[in-house]
Amino acid sequence: MLILHDPRCADYGSSLRPEQPARVLRSVAHLRSAHPDWTWREPGEASAAEDLLLLAHTPAHVKRLLEPRDFDADTPYFPEIAAHARRSVAAAIEAARHALASADREPVFSLMRPPGHHATATQAMGFCYLNQIAIAALAAQRNFTATAAPVRKVAVWDFDAHHGNGTEAILMGQSQVLFASVHQYPGYPGTGTQDHGPHIRNWPVAPHTPRVDHMASLRASLDAVVSFAPDLILVSAGFDAYARDPITSMTLETEDFATLGRWLRETRRPAAALLEGGYHRDLPLLIDAFLGAWNKSA
Ligand SMILES: [Zn+2]
Repeated sequence: MLILHDPRCADYGSSLRPEQPARVLRSVAHLRSAHPDWTWREPGEASAAEDLLLLAHTPAHVKRLLEPRDFDADTPYFPEIAAHARRSVAAAIEAARHALASADREPVFSLMRPPGHHATATQAMGFCYLNQIAIAALAAQRNFTATAAPVRKVAVWDFDAHHGNGTEAILMGQSQVLFASVHQYPGYPGTGTQDHGPHIRNWPVAPHTPRVDHMASLRASLDAVVSFAPDLILVSAGFDAYARDPITSMTLETEDFATLGRWLRETRRPAAALLEGGYHRDLPLLIDAFLGAWNKSA
């Protein structure tokens, strides 16, 4: 298991907000002590070159991140937020690269903040400033690494409890890309109620749906990913469908995240996962369950 992490991702934000530095600080501490054999690497900032950001975002949006004005109530301006968001992008790109280059399909996880899947081409929202998973998906198709085989088809599997509206909007109409999301509806941001053609797939799940039914939707979404036969799977790994998450009304338990990790391993395809949401203090255990099961040798 390779974890991509830059400690500076805990240098902004507030403990009064759900998306707070302790999410990663506590996850780092837990994973380092529980898995001393896992490899940790700091992503290089140069990986998030401007031309890669522009695969998913407008030049005006990239500039706007430098202006000290809040984006919305959930998404304040913080000093250096553009640099923080770019480091999340760099980690995502390196995670994708590693997934493609790793001969033995070593699992790779980007343990960074801010998250990204709500950010659209033109707008920061929902704690997200740049959409690192969309950028990584589009960058992968442009053969951003000489060490990996060419990538034609990329699938994004989004199991965060919120719909990845930004990822969907950016990837809609792109060729050879599949987006599959399972999320609470009704719920923030209120999108993701239907499919848009064969390559934008949504599984809305009602609040308080029994976990067995939620897991059935997750299985169906991963089956769609596998049927697409992607060269690379990128995972928006949010852990806020946890039964005790403070900002959602879902019912998944720790072992369900382990099941998602096992399923991902069983796809036997190059895959990289990126941290999105997850706001309960058990987040380190949920990440551990997912990664531990994914990493387990078959
Ligand atoms: Zn979420």
